[in-house]
Amino acid sequence: MLHDAHGFWIAEAGSPELLPPLDGDRRADVVVIGGGYTGLWTAWHVLAAEPDAEVVVLEAGRCGHGPSGRNGGFVTGVDLSLPALRRESGHDAAEAWAAAARETVDAIGAWCEREGVDAWYRRGGELVVSTASAHDGVGAAAAAAAAAAAASAGGEPVVAQSAGQSPAGADGGPVVAQSAEQARARCDSPVFRSGVFVPAAATVHPARLAFGLRERLLARGARVYEGSRATGMRPAREGVAVRTAGGEVRAPVAVLAVNAASGGIAPLRDRLTVSSSHIVCTEPVPDVIEQLGWDGGEAISDGRALLHYTRTTRDGRIVFGWAGGRMAAGARTGGRMEVDHRVIAQVRADLLRFFPQLAGRRIEHAWGGPIDVSPTHRPAIVGLHGLPAWAAFGFTGNGVGPAHLFGRTLAALALDRRDPVTRLPFVDPPPRRVPPEPLRIAGAALIRRALVRKEAAEEAGGRPDPVTAGIAALPRLLGLHIVR
Ligand SMILES: Cc1cc2nc3c(=O)[nH]c(=O)nc-3n(C[C@H](O)[C@H](O)[C@H](O)COP(=O)(O)OP(=O)(O)OC[C@H]3O[C@@H](n4cnc5c(N)ncnc54)[C@H](O)[C@@H]3O)c2cc1C
Repeated sequence: MLHDAHGFWIAEAGSPELLPPLDGDRRADVVVIGGGYTGLWTAWHVLAAEPDAEVVVLEAGRCGHGPSGRNGGFVTGVDLSLPALRRESGHDAAEAWAAAARETVDAIGAWCEREGVDAWYRRGGELVVSTASAHDGVGAAAAAAAAAAAASAGGEPVVAQSAGQSPAGADGGPVVAQSAEQARARCDSPVFRSGVFVPAAATVHPARLAFGLRERLLARGARVYEGSRATGMRPAREGVAVRTAGGEVRAPVAVLAVNAASGGIAPLRDRLTVSSSHIVCTEPVPDVIEQLGWDGGEAISDGRALLHYTRTTRDGRIVFGWAGGRMAAGARTGGRMEVDHRVIAQVRADLLRFFPQLAGRRIEHAWGGPIDVSPTHRPAIVGLHGLPAWAAFGFTGNGVGPAHLFGRTLAALALDRRDPVTRLPFVDPPPRRVPPEPLRIAGAALIRRALVRKEAAEEAGGRPDPVTAGIAALPRLLGLHIVR
């Protein structure tokens, strides 16, 4: 097994040649910091709105070599969170967010098609399934709300959609209850119980998407500088000046899209914690996928707080991840945030529990990456006080679809253009703070360990000891939102 920070996707896609760093001073209409999906989609949407705009992207390393190029490739919306979003933001705002997020799932596929980027886009929907009696009922509130909405709109009550039906879900609503039998008809894992199916979800090859986006941006005239870490931002006559070792970019407005590294920036330090997620990828196993009956391309996740997520690839592999990696002190994103051998051993064991048919098959790649965890479980776009600059962060392991929507929103904000998405509740939400270090890492690590023990006990059919259960309940008691 190859343990490498970049993983299968970047190896399969092949990294494009490194672009030269910023060398000297430049002016731009918009300067974007960070060359992951959020930064690249922002640049894309700016150029879509203003084709002649001068857009500069400053990337510390290589575009798409962060989590954007090596995630699970789930493209999801917020349908499962709708009941919670309604409570937080009100009915209409929540519905507007969910509709925009659903649109985004399709927009990414349409973009790939239009631009000729073969990012293995497949709109197979998402199956969210319980793997322990303690998690039965996962997604049920969202399914019930969808059924009630359909009924009050005068439609037929929503019935459970059977496997094999179109993932467009025209007859199923945005979240559809699944019996254990229906879930296992989609993918016959012995641990799958009941769950829900979300039609508006897709999978992509994350690195092909990121590299394709970079290439199309270059073709549109964006100036992308790699190996160009932004080291500071200050007010300037033009608006803002962003410093790198090789020079400075001045622009009327800056967009900060640095994901987990946001936690190292003073005004955002107490707005997120950093954890990690790890993935293993098998050799091609088309026979196992066939045996599982997993031919619909569904992205699958379970009902845990530290969730498992799994999908197939176009070349017949199974990709399997776990969001249970360690927490980082401050915003340190290297080391065990990138590759953690102990966590990878656990992911591998969990893979075999989900799919015992894989016994004896090779795991070819294993890797991980940092996650920018928001205390509200929702990402946010905030204006940086005293600077004409916007920052996006807090995707909480769910940024592939949202980064496109955020890119569109950031572009509209940066250009001061009207777009209804700038009024969605993720723009400048009421701040929710996390405790300062070193309290934060001590508390977060304690809670993570308790959640790992609790969910392992539940999966073994038992219950956690009372101390573990008490610690695992702390986030909820403190008003921190750690599940969908
Ligand atoms: C293992 C793993 C699996 C995941 N699976 C999924 C999934 O299946 N579905 C999903 O929706 N989400 C998933 N995620 C989360 C998703 O990958 C992220 O939310 C998303 O990629 C965030 O995009 P981004 O552009 O904001 O951040 P990034 O991709 O991290 O890009 C930020 C960029 O900023 C650069 N940067 C940092 N500091 C500076 C600086 N000072 N100057 C210049 N550049 C800087 C970095 O080098 C990086 O390239 C996963 C994440 C991980 C780690």
